[in-house]
Amino acid sequence: METLVALCKRRVFIFQSSEIYGGINGFFDYGPLGAELKKNIRDCWWSDMVRRRDDIVGIETSIIMHPRVWEASGHVAGFTDPLVDCKASKQRYRADQLFFAQVVVDGRSVGYVSALESERTAEELTEAAETLKRKKAVQGKLEPLRIRDMTEAEPGEIPLIPSPATGEPGSLTAPRSFNMMFQTNVGAMTDASSVAYLRPETAQGMFADFKSVVDTGRVKLPFGIAQIGRSFRNEITPRNFIFRSREFEQMEMEYFIHEDADWAKCHREWIDWCRDWLLSIGLPQALLSEYNHPKEKLAFYSRGTTDIMFRFPFGVQELWGIAARGDYDLKQHEKFSGVPQVIFDEATKRKFIPHVIEPAVGVDRIVLAVLCAGYAEEEVKDDKGSSEKRTVLRLSPRIAPVKVAVLPLLKNKPELVARARALYKRLQRKYAVFYDESGAIGRRYRRQDEIGTPWCVTIDFETIEKDGTFTLRERDSMKQRRIGDDELLALLEERVY
Ligand code: ATP
Repeated sequence: METLVALCKRRVFIFQSSEIYGGINGFFDYGPLGAELKKNIRDCWWSDMVRRRDDIVGIETSIIMHPRVWEASGHVAGFTDPLVDCKASKQRYRADQLFFAQVVVDGRSVGYVSALESERTAEELTEAAETLKRKKAVQGKLEPLRIRDMTEAEPGEIPLIPSPATGEPGSLTAPRSFNMMFQTNVGAMTDASSVAYLRPETAQGMFADFKSVVDTGRVKLPFGIAQIGRSFRNEITPRNFIFRSREFEQMEMEYFIHEDADWAKCHREWIDWCRDWLLSIGLPQALLSEYNHPKEKLAFYSRGTTDIMFRFPFGVQELWGIAARGDYDLKQHEKFSGVPQVIFDEATKRKFIPHVIEPAVGVDRIVLAVLCAGYAEEEVKDDKGSSEKRTVLRLSPRIAPVKVAVLPLLKNKPELVARARALYKRLQRKYAVFYDESGAIGRRYRRQDEIGTPWCVTIDFETIEKDGTFTLRERDSMKQRRIGDDELLALLEERVY
């Protein structure tokens, strides 16, 4: 992760927001390359999810909605995470990410150890238990640790559990609910009547506008409403770079189905669709997996939720959640707004509230996943045959920030430069391309490898003096071959879609 974060900063993909003021935790900025990468991911999703389908329409709704929306959706009452404070260090922890265990030696309690959630939580707790045993000079056999998180701590145990910040017990509070919605006030008054929220998800926009979309007459069940937009969550512990931030972007789609439809089949179809889409933007199957939420942990209205998981360097984590939500959301909005949220079924001459399948994913999480999957350091041979290290980002041509770099072999030969610039201008009409004339050609290739550019073309004397072809150099194989304008355009048309 550290290497990747360093690359993101060096090549100005992604960095802390407001860096000149020391940054602000949980907020990020995307530089020129990051902005292109993110836009490409959004555009691919929008094309595949909305434009290339007949059954899905796209909308854009406002970030601040009527506060009753969030009462209806359950967010005001229940969009909370359990929070634990350390009174000594003023650090705050998500209770379900703070783990502890009682250290028992030969049946006698020696004390408690704690560790934050990570790939190594269990090892860290075991190491801490060994250290505690040594520190207390206790002889005997350490019993296997029973690891729990802070939501499972008995009230009597809380004063005995050490804070991860200080290593000392006595400063952690009992978990309490913390609402993650950012509040603001609309208008000049700052009293209770003007309270509003920054949306914590885009989904409620689709539910609140359901009737308006149905009334356009453009949709017939089953159909979907999709949206891409910013969401805000006052996460207690934003971490793992852009994996969990406080301002992020979501791509969500609500797929409305008949109340009698086979929801499980539809749910499965959407899980498959989402997985295939991730493969289409270059994520390898080997890093993806599925997690089915156990029935007892689901919200009461939920019929099933499956997450597509990705193996990040910090562990296997949720990338995309696909939830079968029944008719809960529309029913709630009908109840709170008083406006019927029904569809008329011609076949049975009955009105009913449709059910919904919701695939919800974060754009930033996909950005992080493609960067993690694509990053590699390799030993390669340079022009003179000696070994050197190259850093390469294997991004799919669909999403790579720059599709082609156009390189004149020499910058002091006007005919090469003119030809290169003409090709550059031509490609620029349709694609993000880069023109680079400075430095040795090998160095220029390396610079493009590092930012994930799939192809470089080099304009040389043969281009001018012979048949107009130029060298196409492929990022992953580093193979070179000669190619002409038309063939290059055909290649781009085929691979960048
Ligand atoms: P988590 O359990 O990780 O907090 P969640 O289950 O609450 O996530 P959803 O409400 O289902 O997440 O949100 C849908 C998607 O939005 C997630 O799959 C994820 O890709 C993205 N997402 C959610 N919270 C964040 C965040 N704080 N930062 C970046 N992306 C997020």
